[in-house]
Parts: sequence; structure tokens; C-alpha cells
Amino acid sequence: DAPGQIPSERLREEYETLVEQVRAARTAYYQQDAPELSDAEYDALYRRLEDIETLHPEIVANDSPTQEVGGEASAAFSPVTHGARMYSLEDLFSEDELRTWFLRTAGTLTAGRPEAAPAWTVEVKIDGLAVNLRYREGRLVQAATRGDGRVGEDVTQNVRTIADVPQTLTGKGWPAEFEVRGEVFMSSAAFAELNAQRAEEGLPPFANPRNAAAGSLRQKDPAVTARRPLSMILHGVGAGPDLGVASQHEAYDALAAWGLPVSPYTRLVEGADEAALADVVAVIEEYGRRRHELIHEIDGIVVKADAFADQRLLGHTSRVPRWAAAFKYPPEEVHTLLLDILVSV
Ligand code: NAD
Repeated sequence: DAPGQIPSERLREEYETLVEQVRAARTAYYQQDAPELSDAEYDALYRRLEDIETLHPEIVANDSPTQEVGGEASAAFSPVTHGARMYSLEDLFSEDELRTWFLRTAGTLTAGRPEAAPAWTVEVKIDGLAVNLRYREGRLVQAATRGDGRVGEDVTQNVRTIADVPQTLTGKGWPAEFEVRGEVFMSSAAFAELNAQRAEEGLPPFANPRNAAAGSLRQKDPAVTARRPLSMILHGVGAGPDLGVASQHEAYDALAAWGLPVSPYTRLVEGADEAALADVVAVIEEYGRRRHELIHEIDGIVVKADAFADQRLLGHTSRVPRWAAAFKYPPEEVHTLLLDILVSV
């Protein structure tokens, strides 16, 4: 099947099967915290779906998974309508895709503005689940999961049990009311300890730290969450007045000064040309090597236009910001006990 041609019956069938498979995988992953596919398997299905839609835009359904932020608020929690939408991220699976995205985005920022000097934050992509926090008069008043990006789940009492998340802000200069968002995760050390403890108690282990974090946060009883070693790191601002700063990296500095947790791994890269791209690639390679020395699992590196003015200029699609993208590392070889047993028989 080529672009412009009427899709064959076989392709239509493949497309419909893919939509169903992606939907089912999302339900297992976001609602049940029990994925049935590996992330790489999911990414391959999703990519094939995108490829078919690029080839045949006329068959894209309005409710195709490519048009929506994955996930849905579960009825087990009270719904929370986010003050500002929460988005997903565009994935880049190779250096070529990164190059295309970076030079195109930088080109948009500099087109007709040769004096423009874009900068980028290069951040680790924490493998956890996104949560929005609302502070009023310096106090945490609400925490909600991303859900479908518009409506999330009220997990305020659960988030109150996370030691990294201050109940009360310190410092000065914070707005009367504002929102920030970030990732709730389990550190690699805490995950290993929790699984060892579960093995001793005869409980099934969690498949990975992301799964453990999501399953631990989305508990009806906050006392269960309180016993789970969760952490949080912020990676964005939500609804509210600006924080008195003009860029992502300055926002992180302000949040840190108010006692909020931000990543120690974020880097700033300046420029819009090949040299700037090479700097981004160097950070990706460095964290690729150091991946297992970090305090938490990462599944990629996020590159973001730093200036809020640049972010506004680039805007969003219905699913992702155009001012950020996630470079995904290739999947690592997985060695499970089961695999070893299978290989040895
Ligand atoms: P995503 O997880 O790839 O990227 C978006 C999210 O990244 C944001 O919502 C945010 O929470 C998070 N993030 C972490 N660090 C960040 C940072 N520094 N800056 C900004 N955001 C940061 O996208 P998604 O839509 O949440 O999920 C899609 C991915 O989830 C897939 O690629 C796959 O890995 C996984 N998934 C797996 C299955 C499965 O069956 N295994 C099913 C659905 C989704």
C-alpha cells in the first residue's frame, strides 16, 4: 500500500486490529497497572499504527489512540479536571529522528529571527507516572494523576504520604495558587528492597519500578501507599500565573528554592545548529552509559525548548507539545529467571 492509494482490505483489517491491541494494552497499563506487553512491544505496535495513518490519513478515526493522551481516570477515584492539560511526549527512536525533530524545531524558532538564540533543557525521562500538584497559599491542596490529560484521579491523600513532596512550601515569592507536575516513581534501590521483602512474604514481585510506583500510588487506602517507598521529581508547570520566571530551567531553580523536588540530572544546551545537536547527543550518550548509576530507572531523554516564549510559539497537538520530544533508548536485553530456565532445558 502506497500513499494516496486506497488502502487494501488487508491493511484496513490490520489497522483495526492494531487499534484494538493498543487500546487493550493501554487499559492493562494505565488502569490495571498490570501491563501485558513490554514497552518495546507496545512502542512497535503504536509506531506501526502511526505509519499506517501517515500513509492513509483518511482512515484515521477521531478516537484513534494516536489522537489522545493514553489513560483514563478510573472510577475508583474522584475525578479531577486539570487546570491546564497534561500531555504525552513525541517519541524519537533513533539519532536520525532526533536530528530531524531538533533541526526542524530549531528552524521554526529561528525562522525570520536570526537574533533568536534558542536554548534547550535536556532531562532524564523518569519511568514513573505523571502527577499534577496544586499549591494554594503555600500548602499542598490537591494531587491528581494524568488520566486522559483532561481529567485525572484524585490521589491527594496518597501523595501526602510521599516524603519528597512538601506539604508546605519554604522560601518566598511563590504565587498564591499554582500547579506543577512531575513523575512519581520508585528508586531502583527501593524497588529492589520492596521486591525482596515481598518475596519473603510470599507475595508476587512487581515487574518493574514503573509498575510498582503506579500500583502503589493508585491504592484506595493511603495507608498502603504510605508503606511503599515512593519518590517524586517535578518536570513541568501547570495552570496558574507564571512563576516570575521566563524559562523551564529558571522554573526548576524557583521550585527548588521553595523546597520542591527537581532533577539533579538536567542540563542546559544552547544553540540551533549542528553543534547544539551534538551537545544534546553527547548528553544522551552519557546518560545511556550511566543509566544504571542513576537513582531511578530512565527510559529516555527529554529535550525541551527552554524559553516559555519559545514553548508558546511552538504550541501543542491534541496529544503532545511541539516544544519537547523524548529520545527513547533501545530496549535492553532482558534476563529473567524464566528465560534462563527455558534456555537451560
Ligand atoms: P511517555 O511515558 O512515553 O511520555 C510522556 C510522559 O513522560 C509524561 O506524561 C511524563 O509523565 C513523563 N516524563 C518523565 N520524565 C519527564 C521529563 N523529564 N519531562 C517531561 N515528561 C517526563 O508517554 P505516555 O503517553 O505516558 O506513555 C506511552 C509509553 O508508555 C509507551 O512508549 C510505553 O513505554 C508505555 N506504555 C506501555 C504499555 C505496555 O503495554 N507495556 C502500554 C501503554 C503505554
